[in-house]
Amino acid sequence: MSYVGRFAPSPTGPLHAGSLVAALASWLDARAHGGRWLVRIEDVDGPRCVPGADHEILRQLAAVGLLPDEPPQWQSRRGPLYRNALDRLLAAGWAYPCGCTRRDIELGLGASGRQRSRHGELAYPGTCRPSHGGLRGKAPRSARLVCAMHPADRMDEAPPLLIDWLDRRLGRQRQDVTAEVGDFVLQRADGLWAYQLAVVVDDAEQGVTDVVRGEDLADNTPRQIHLQRCLGLPAPRYLHTPLVLGPNGEKLSKQNGAQALALDDPLAALQAAAQVLGLPQFAAADLPGWLAAAVAGWGRLTAACA
Ligand code: GLU
Repeated sequence: MSYVGRFAPSPTGPLHAGSLVAALASWLDARAHGGRWLVRIEDVDGPRCVPGADHEILRQLAAVGLLPDEPPQWQSRRGPLYRNALDRLLAAGWAYPCGCTRRDIELGLGASGRQRSRHGELAYPGTCRPSHGGLRGKAPRSARLVCAMHPADRMDEAPPLLIDWLDRRLGRQRQDVTAEVGDFVLQRADGLWAYQLAVVVDDAEQGVTDVVRGEDLADNTPRQIHLQRCLGLPAPRYLHTPLVLGPNGEKLSKQNGAQALALDDPLAALQAAAQVLGLPQFAAADLPGWLAAAVAGWGRLTAACA
């Protein structure tokens, strides 16, 4: 089997100890499988991106010896691919225009007796779903994906969309996407492409066979699997890596004080990331020696969950 892995950072800041863990794991997994490793800069959410962070991330990766096998890609240059995918979903009835504001969604959830919020995002109650009455004269704002077994299913009368999937580290997973997320956004009211659509289109277009990324993204996976099925795309295998926690017990991020990865001691940075992944200390004199030992160590560690 030919293996293609990737690291897909959002350039909202430089790499830090937490993002290096995901980068290292995806690189090690690709190397241990004799595969290729790609880097994709996920800059679809332009307003959140920090100018220059993309090149800083690439410099940091190079400094720790993690070099992509192909020139990196930038999502901001791939809009036509996302447009094409959305058009296919609209034509098939899987996607639909939505005219709801956040306030409309809160009211709709109140009316249906559901008030679930997920990371501050409200589970969409399906107000503008075509089988529910559609836009009803509202102006279209965003585009959403029907999260149901069939595009014509009504929100509360059809069986929920249950996605079962296997994570190579976390084991069997299940999510009721209808109840927990609801029809999610593919293109935002401001015209920007949603992460879910961009990541699914890109992983398929780049031939990615294995997604290795941080565990904070695990609960996005069922949405992405549903989207792959709606678009008729193959599903990659998934492995979600342990997170580095900040002083407040939450995932380490720029917001809770993560420092940019220091480049003065690449081996120490790699060794710390390896420890989070459950790898032992590797005694090596230089970067290539350390990376080679880590690839062998990763192969042993993951042999049981191939
Ligand atoms: N761009 C996402 C992030 O930096 C990662 C997406 C992915 O690996 O699927 O959190």
